[in-house]
Amino acid sequence: MSESAVKILVVEDEAKIAEALSAYLGSAGYGVSLADDGESGLAAFNKSAPDLVILDLMLPKMSGEKLCTEIRRVSRVPVIMLTAKSGEDDKVCGFALGADDYISKPFSPRELMARVRSVLRRSAGGVSPLFSRMSWNSGDLEIDLESRSVWKGGEPAALTPNEYKILARLVKHPNRAFSRDELIDTALGENFGGFERTVDSHVKNLRGKIEDDTANPVYIVTVRGVGYRFGGAARAETER
Ligand code: CA
Repeated sequence: MSESAVKILVVEDEAKIAEALSAYLGSAGYGVSLADDGESGLAAFNKSAPDLVILDLMLPKMSGEKLCTEIRRVSRVPVIMLTAKSGEDDKVCGFALGADDYISKPFSPRELMARVRSVLRRSAGGVSPLFSRMSWNSGDLEIDLESRSVWKGGEPAALTPNEYKILARLVKHPNRAFSRDELIDTALGENFGGFERTVDSHVKNLRGKIEDDTANPVYIVTVRGVGYRFGGAARAETER
């Protein structure tokens, strides 16, 4: 994973700290987007599908704790909590909400970058290894994001690299609808020389490999006027 491809969402209401974070992370080559309250943070999360979220605890409109919980409803994206509180109780609370790491204010740029790199390394491209293996509909579909393996009905499914990338991107953000453009950019890479219809053709082949009935897909669902999302009638059973 090249650092330039990594998108980081920073939700912080103190302008000085937000600017400092943006400068540190930007100069390290990360793509940074900023939000200054919890609600716009959630909107930015849904819009930009970041690879890492850095979250202040004390935020206007929606607290960092609440925002972390909202993000964890739909995503395993790594979350680093930024806080002036440094008591052990707060850490335990943050980890229970699903935060991956903590940085106490004031922090040094060196500490910040070390935490960011470490969390991204552990997440292996967006998903914590703890949740790397997932299955749906009584084991009908299984995906191991660490080994990049997919099984359909217990048998290995032979996905092409592009089919796998599209599926993994959708799985990492269940319930979020992706446009064809976004799937080209985020899954296949901005330099991918394909057209929007190329995504449709990958999805068609992918459905042939993982759906029982390609006319009524339960995993890769078409969202009219938008694109595709993962979900539909898929029930997640195991996450470990
Ligand atoms: Ca704050």
